[in-house]
This record gives sequence, structure tokens and C-alpha cells, in this order.
Amino acid sequence: MADRLETGYRAKLRWLLAKVRPRRLDFGVDLLVRRARALSEREGVPLPEALARVYEFTRWRVKKRLERTAACRLTGQPLDAPVRPPRFLCDPSLGGLARWLRAAGYEADWMRSGSADPLADARRRGAVLLTTDSRQAVRMGSEAMPEVLWVPSSLRRVHQLGVVLRDLDLEPREPRCMACGAELRAVPKQEVAARIPPRTARWKDEYFLCAGCGRLYWQGTHWQRIAARLQGERPSVSAAARP
Ligand SMILES: [Zn+2]
Repeated sequence: MADRLETGYRAKLRWLLAKVRPRRLDFGVDLLVRRARALSEREGVPLPEALARVYEFTRWRVKKRLERTAACRLTGQPLDAPVRPPRFLCDPSLGGLARWLRAAGYEADWMRSGSADPLADARRRGAVLLTTDSRQAVRMGSEAMPEVLWVPSSLRRVHQLGVVLRDLDLEPREPRCMACGAELRAVPKQEVAARIPPRTARWKDEYFLCAGCGRLYWQGTHWQRIAARLQGERPSVSAAARP
């Protein structure tokens, strides 16, 4: 377990550091893994947590460095060029993460069983593969939007979502249906009156219907809790403490 996690983090640190084109990439990755081990021994934190902390801090530093170099560069590139949001295909073990991604407004599905070549399946769907399998992690390459993103199985789901949003610099969008992943559309209250629980109808006027499965949504306390958790995992609030 610890070996597989370290393999995954090594691949991910390599992907991260490649963005700033260091002269000695492997040396940099080794240094960070050694730093995580030292942190684990010094403070008695489990190695998976130490690796996660070193990774978060490194991502934050890479982001700051990229922001600085971008500010220095004079380019004629248009700002805010429209980019299609990525869609995701998750491992069978990451069904919970797929649901959270839907809540964050992204198209996401998960494989119901294992696959001989999950990356090929993701490519066929035009999706980014999210996986906990460290053997797939080495296929991350160096693109800002990789074809496969390794996600640590040691993290809780909402924190896995935070890792995905921060790694790919994605802000939460309009929520999608957590059950089927389709878009939610505002619907007049009177059209769905018969389906609204009487106590909810008394204090809520805004309702949404899933365009896929027809499920009815409103911004109740459950929704508000989810929205609060999503806000906490946004890339813009990712300032990480030095480990
Ligand atoms: Zn639905």
C-alpha cells in the first residue's frame, strides 16, 4: 500500500514539477519524497499524509511560480478563451468521487467493473481517466490537462475532489444531477407542486429538474452542506502550509 502510494505520488510530483521545467527533474522528485519521509519521522504523521502535505505545498509553489512568469511575459494571446470543461471517467473504486464531481458541475461517470485498458476506455469517451492505480500514474505525461490523473486512495472523497479541482485548476460550476450526471434546469414551482414535500414548499420557491432522470432538486440543507464543502475545495483557496 505505502509503496503503491509512493509510486503514485512520484508520478504526480514529476507531472507537477515538469510544468516549471527544472534542470534536474528526477532529483527534484527524489528530494520531495525524502522531505515527506523526514516529515513523517519528525512529526510522527503517517507517510500517506506526509506525502499529501508535501504535494499540496509543492503544487501551491508551482502555481505561484507560474503566475509570476506569466505576469512577466508579454503575449498577444486572448484572455479567457473559451475552453470546453473536461469530462471524467473514474475507476470502479472512485464512484463516490464521480458523484462529487457531478455536484461540482462536471460530467463524470465511473466504470462498473475493471477494464483491461481503462485509459483506452477514457479516450473513447473523450474523458480524463481518474484512477487510484499507481501503474496508470506513470502515464500522466506532462500536459497541463493530462489524459490520466492519479488520485490517492488514502484521501476522503471530498478531499479527492479538492485534489482534482486544484490539480486541473477547475472552479466548481453549476451543479449536475448526482444520480445520473445530467444538467439541472430551473422549473416553476407550480409545475412540480405535487412532488414537493409540504414542509419544503412552505420555505422554498426555487426548484430544479434533472434533464436526464427527472429527479427533483431544491437548495435544502443537504445541498447547502455540499455547496459549502465544494467552496472549501476550490483552487483559489489552496494556500498550503509549508510541511
Ligand atoms: Zn438525473
